Amino acid sequence: MELQYMGTGAAEGIPATFCTCRVCREAAGRGGREIRTRSQALLDGKILFDFPPDAYAHYLAYRFDLPAIEHVLVTHSHMDHFFPQEFELRSKGFVPTPLPLLHIYGNDKVEQALLAALPQRDEERHRLRFHRLRPFERIDAGGYAVTPLLAKHDPTEQCLFYLVEQGDRALLYAHDTGIFPAETWDYLDSAKPRLGLVSLDCTTAAFKDGNNHMGLPDVVQVRERLLKMGLAGETTVFTLNHFSHNGGLNHRELSEKAQGMGFAAAWDGFIATC
Ligand SMILES: [Zn+2]
Ligand SMILES: [Zn+2]
Ligand SMILES: [Zn+2]
Repeated sequence: MELQYMGTGAAEGIPATFCTCRVCREAAGRGGREIRTRSQALLDGKILFDFPPDAYAHYLAYRFDLPAIEHVLVTHSHMDHFFPQEFELRSKGFVPTPLPLLHIYGNDKVEQALLAALPQRDEERHRLRFHRLRPFERIDAGGYAVTPLLAKHDPTEQCLFYLVEQGDRALLYAHDTGIFPAETWDYLDSAKPRLGLVSLDCTTAAFKDGNNHMGLPDVVQVRERLLKMGLAGETTVFTLNHFSHNGGLNHRELSEKAQGMGFAAAWDGFIATC
């Protein structure tokens, strides 16, 4: 499986929309890998993780086949992960050409946000179907076995992250989570996936969090636990994603520190495989 990171920033991006801190000033000046748009990733050119306000910019930057996409796995309803107003642009007045049915998967808050944005939502008109997910209930999405896992994030909604398996390949795509809650560790312990790729939240970069997000001190703990449980091994690729300027490190600094701890710090455009 090939995972392309198209956006690797937290809600405000880097440089953050209205910020003049050191990290943001450097990013604005240097450009390149220092720039982070809101988080979104593409699996094998077929499955999208999240649909942020930058989805259209990602379409332009990476030239993937967005009109042909049939599956979007949404982690939670925060605006940096789900910007449902965009889906109105699937309706016939905007798109005269045929579109495949787009399956959007998410929790009840994601469904509410979709309904609020598209009060006239109609499967035929928008070529769109919503699927409500429940933690730990596996579904099939385009030939991939997808298991939503419970994140530790906004307590007012059931935030999810994803275990995706195909054949003997498995990847974990986890952001907007602190150190995983007990139910998720229990599930992983019983399901025993052999993870080829583990992508973790590192929003707070240099600083410890573990409750709402993670920083380098937290991801090290998660990595050790996955190795100890036998879910990850020597060949497992560990990557970091969803960074905030408030983590205090630019990409160059973050990348160096992460590498020393056994992680690759993703950037917008980075590709990881397993
Ligand atoms: Zn986020
Ligand atoms: Zn800043
Ligand atoms: Zn969030």
